[in-house]
Amino acid sequence: MTISKILIANRGEIALRVLRACKELGIATVAVHSTADADAMHVRLADESVCIGPPPSRDSYLNIHQIVAACEITGADAVHPGYGFLSENAKFADILDAHGITFIGPTAEHIRLMGDKITAKKTAVELGIPVVPGSAGEVLPENAMEIARQIGFPVLIKATAGGGGRGMKVAKNETELEEAVSTARSEALAAFGNDAVYMEKYLGHPRHIEVQVVGDGEGNAIHLGERDCSLQRRHQKVWEEANSPALNVEQRMKIGQICADAMKKMKYRGAGTIEFLYENGEFYFIEMNTRLQVEHPITEAITGIDLVHEQIRVASGGGLSVTQDEITFSGHAIECRINAEDPRTFVPSPGTITHFHAPGGLGVRVDSGAYAGYKIPPYYDSLIGKLIVHGRTRVECMMRLRRVLDEFVVDGIKTTLPLFQDLVANQDIANGDYDIHWLEDYLARTAP
Ligand code: ADP
Repeated sequence: MTISKILIANRGEIALRVLRACKELGIATVAVHSTADADAMHVRLADESVCIGPPPSRDSYLNIHQIVAACEITGADAVHPGYGFLSENAKFADILDAHGITFIGPTAEHIRLMGDKITAKKTAVELGIPVVPGSAGEVLPENAMEIARQIGFPVLIKATAGGGGRGMKVAKNETELEEAVSTARSEALAAFGNDAVYMEKYLGHPRHIEVQVVGDGEGNAIHLGERDCSLQRRHQKVWEEANSPALNVEQRMKIGQICADAMKKMKYRGAGTIEFLYENGEFYFIEMNTRLQVEHPITEAITGIDLVHEQIRVASGGGLSVTQDEITFSGHAIECRINAEDPRTFVPSPGTITHFHAPGGLGVRVDSGAYAGYKIPPYYDSLIGKLIVHGRTRVECMMRLRRVLDEFVVDGIKTTLPLFQDLVANQDIANGDYDIHWLEDYLARTAP
């Protein structure tokens, strides 16, 4: 089936990102927006736009009725959900299907399978993906101690419906267990309306390494190498790189192949990311995201493959544009997430951007909907742009990043740019020597 008009059910830089791919493929675009985003760049650049409601996300970007109505009105035959919002909502995929509209993403069944973390982990085991040692299923207060003793302390209690690090608690020893289980359960209930939790061995100093996969839904699948997203604050990624400074080619190809084989077995359709913790040479699956990730451009930089083109191709039944053997990994790429936030306290800083100058030159990509005069609405996440830098080697990439950060001008609001200037000059970062706790430790150590 051919796709001739895509409605982009998102906003900000990712809406623009998808729009660019559509234009390159000669596909018409429909932007949707809340009243707060009437002046947004994705609205200006789309062929058509529809206002779908007032500022709060639940009334606009999460409003399935309005989005389906916008498809009917404009005659869009497919929806790209971007990331966040409705991108991992199986019900949304089902509803689009019922209306004969193509959801650019995996099947609703696969979204459900990976959305529940206990089921996802069981599936990973069946597919031959290595997982973190942990409970076989849900953990209840009455069996928590027995399970924790089997796993061995320290343990981590995690919400089955988890996301964004919520409902996650560490118990270092037996004394801490009861409280950790009960707080994790109540946090999970408050955040997800579901108090089910499970237990894992708590890894002390892992890196976060994730593998990009794409499948055609017919049993063909490829991997596009890994990304290292260990630099995090409160489980939010801040700086990502591809390849990981911690892996060699053999390790890369081995874990990549395990993931691609798993996707073949599942007959997975679309882009997906399999997330691992990595410690002492071992990979431990933590979750799979059944969508495009914020940090996908670093993978595009080192492979030259446009992931949104691939998503659209497989959604329309056109198959993958490349085979595994045709994929080559070239150089090194780093992404910095530019947020409208104080670079130290991370308190959001919405307001009007008075001056905006994006850097340029070889190996530089800026994905952003920001411009001088743009008023950042206070209703959504604070990501205003992504800076992606590519070099032939990691050293060249870091030198380029240093140069590019000095060129980037965003005035009128606070941004995280100064944090990246500190990080790019840091010796541990230069050495690629960091784990998932490094950034929080660094921020605590260097607090003014
Ligand atoms: P969420 O979906 O809530 O983001 P994840 O399972 O993806 O949860 O985990 C988020 C982060 O929590 C990981 O990137 C890592 O920093 C930490 N984490 C998760 N599981 C473990 C574990 N078993 N040991 C240590 N840290 C963990």
